[in-house]
Amino acid sequence: MMRQRLANVVSWTAGGRVDALRRPRHPRDSSAPPSDGASGAAQFTAIVNPVSGGASQAATLRAVTRQIRAAGHELCVQLTRGAGDATRLAAAVPDGTRAVLVVGGDGTAREVASALVGRDIPMVIARSGTENLLAKDLEMPTSPADLVEALLHGERCHSDIGRAGERRFFVVAGIGFDAEVVRRLHARRDGHIDHLDYAEPIWRTFWTHRFPHLDVEADGAQVYSGPGFAIVNVVPRYAVGLPIAPRARRDDGLLDLTVFPCSNCLRLLGHAAAVMLGRNGDLNGAIMGQAQRIRISSPQSVPVQLDGDDAGTLPVTLTVEPSRALFLRLPARRGP
Ligand SMILES: [Mg+2]
Repeated sequence: MMRQRLANVVSWTAGGRVDALRRPRHPRDSSAPPSDGASGAAQFTAIVNPVSGGASQAATLRAVTRQIRAAGHELCVQLTRGAGDATRLAAAVPDGTRAVLVVGGDGTAREVASALVGRDIPMVIARSGTENLLAKDLEMPTSPADLVEALLHGERCHSDIGRAGERRFFVVAGIGFDAEVVRRLHARRDGHIDHLDYAEPIWRTFWTHRFPHLDVEADGAQVYSGPGFAIVNVVPRYAVGLPIAPRARRDDGLLDLTVFPCSNCLRLLGHAAAVMLGRNGDLNGAIMGQAQRIRISSPQSVPVQLDGDDAGTLPVTLTVEPSRALFLRLPARRGP
């Protein structure tokens, strides 16, 4: 339904009036008009996850398209159809593209950013997911006018990228309890996710989870061996803005590791309270530190999540690629 609505309110490619479109066209429709001069490349490309946003997403995209055109530029809009599609669409963005606008949540941003690594094509993120932790940490603007300003005149900034084997993550990796919640959530996902959708998986996991034994190494040194769960942050915050790793910086070339020793629900509640109070590590005995390489293994089958997506089971080795993702954002506002 949302895909249909988006198809009717935005143009797939440059060259037509936004309000002139009456029918959806496949994003890779070969009959779509070329967009930008001799190169055939649009100056800007928008990659849109139509599942992640609500009605405001369509309005934002329509306004951005109109304003980009009014400024004399072209915007090619591409819609994703499922997992992995944003990666494929981003990989196909032609050289010479000035910037890519990602309209989606952290998962879509991760896919696009992964495909653009090593290319001189920066990204702007228009938030339309559940958490949007990466966009928030980058202080991406929200209004259409500011998004256009960032696309046209934004300053470049970089972010580190986490690696888990061949997979990348830009926000957070979770091992154990939270990954089990993610696994349960995605097993029943049907369309856009909001915070309420997490209630049942959290509730069920809370009562059924058996905290596994974890062996955790950071830069070659064993830092924990026992039951619990672990979070590895690129940016400081976690779901619903929880400040799990307040010292984390997305551009310092380090991953922030937090191990939560835990063997029962009562201890889990204690960890949750400490995090919510901004006292993680002080009140709850969480083990916190920074490393470039983190290896976590277990004799049990333990789920792993990357940026809110199911990523299989342990063992996992997490590394960091410093400053490999390129973004555009508005210059920091100065004082009055
Ligand atoms: Mg860091």
